Amino acid sequence: MTYLNYIDGQWVPAQSGRTIENRNPANTADLIGTFPDSSADDAARAVAAARRAFDSWRLVPAPKRAEILFKAAQIIADRKETFARDMTREMGKVLDETRGDVQEAIDMTYFLAGEGRRLHGQTAPSELRDKFAMSIRQPVGVCALITPWNFPMAIPSWKIIPALVCGNTVVLKPSELTPLSALHFVKVLEEAGVPPGVVNMVTGGPAVGETLTTHPDVSVVSFTGSTAVGKLVNQNCAPHFKKVHLEMGGKNAIMILDDAVLELALEGCLWGGFGTTGQRCTAASRVIIHEKVHDRFVEQFIERAKALRVGDGLDPQMQVGPSISEKQLEKVMGYVEIGKQEGATVACGGRRLTGAAHANGFFHEPTIFTGVTRSMRIAREEIFGPVVSVIKCASLDEAVSIGNDVVYGLSASIYTQDINRAFQAMRDLYTGIFYVNAPTIGAEVHLPFGGTKATGNGHREAGLASLDVFSEWKSIYVDFSGKLQRAQID
Ligand code: NAD
Repeated sequence: MTYLNYIDGQWVPAQSGRTIENRNPANTADLIGTFPDSSADDAARAVAAARRAFDSWRLVPAPKRAEILFKAAQIIADRKETFARDMTREMGKVLDETRGDVQEAIDMTYFLAGEGRRLHGQTAPSELRDKFAMSIRQPVGVCALITPWNFPMAIPSWKIIPALVCGNTVVLKPSELTPLSALHFVKVLEEAGVPPGVVNMVTGGPAVGETLTTHPDVSVVSFTGSTAVGKLVNQNCAPHFKKVHLEMGGKNAIMILDDAVLELALEGCLWGGFGTTGQRCTAASRVIIHEKVHDRFVEQFIERAKALRVGDGLDPQMQVGPSISEKQLEKVMGYVEIGKQEGATVACGGRRLTGAAHANGFFHEPTIFTGVTRSMRIAREEIFGPVVSVIKCASLDEAVSIGNDVVYGLSASIYTQDINRAFQAMRDLYTGIFYVNAPTIGAEVHLPFGGTKATGNGHREAGLASLDVFSEWKSIYVDFSGKLQRAQID
């Protein structure tokens, strides 16, 4: 299949005619299709279309904009299974998880379409007589949305839907590794009745992203990806004072105290560490465990990790899929070597899987490092693969201190039966998300999502907080006194 860009309501190839291949990471012989390898010119055309469409879309009443989005949510729900299968083929995670990814897009679309009848502002009493004071949300303009490959439909939905409900127009640049799921989403919006130019999609690599982040007609940039690229995006946006929303890397910790229900913590560590092959920004790549229960827990953790079935995500027996690419797999293998050189112990796994069932894909054994200390690189840097580092601690205070001792601040969790210690950890972990007796993954669409420090720049995705990224506040004062009234003076 040859897929195209979507610009101004038309499906068009890259002007250069160049394409990129999209292949199945579980079986590279499976070519999913080719997509436009777009250039700066294609991106600029999409921005121009979005700029033109903004003039009319911003004036469509928000409840009417929302009607289109409700329709889109229903179409996605009707095609959930097809979209999930295509996603497993292009991204690798197992079917249960890609169904979850599509479900997240459905949930987000329904949830934020509901805001079309709210988009609440505030009214407040004026300090002066016969004067009315209120604040309203206003759309900002053209939004450039740059997304990664690990949630190929959910993350585009987190950005497109709040942008549209607020009255903005968008240009989406999905990851070059997973453009099909993004294209499915955009096609649904077209079908649901989003007018030409309101949603545009340009596939390709960094050249497209750089054009979008430097283009003077782009007012908002919402980026999800690595901290290294996020920094470049931030720098590119600064000279134009663009509104920039960054969601970046993580190094998330599960803390297990000596009174935890170990079987529950075990399930959480397996799901949090190896679910999505560890390729979640919220993946539990560190387990900080009390020394009293360390040995008992580690023994069972190793046994269960060894038993995980790794393979093609379309096979319902499989629990862990491939890494997204050869490059990502090499990164994982590189970190396994770094961990060994640092003196940590490979308690299980540690190798690429190369047998007949795995030969055409990017598979790696679920890997646990024990004897890890907080200063090791495997305890501090984002690996983004099926590798978990186990670190011993002697108290809650020490666990919190280790938990916070990384540059990232996305998610953390604690397993304990002690409500006092749970609340202390809830307060003291400097992260944007926190769980009690659950792993570090599992966010729901109606709560804010995002992180502190090198994970984010103070904005939040999802929940009502997402509206703040895609709207500007305007405060309005209406004086009906018929005379000049001076604030702070009269
Ligand atoms: P990445 O940074 O390599 O790429 C992200 C996007 O940026 C892609 O679309 C890519 O083409 C584009 N891009 C690359 N260079 C660019 C440039 N110079 N200018 C503009 N755009 C550019 O990240 P990835 O490998 O796709 O995704 C994995 C990363 O995403 C991990 O670090 C993970 O933690 C992070 N992530 C974060 C969240 C979150 O909400 N915090 C969610 C999912 C993934």
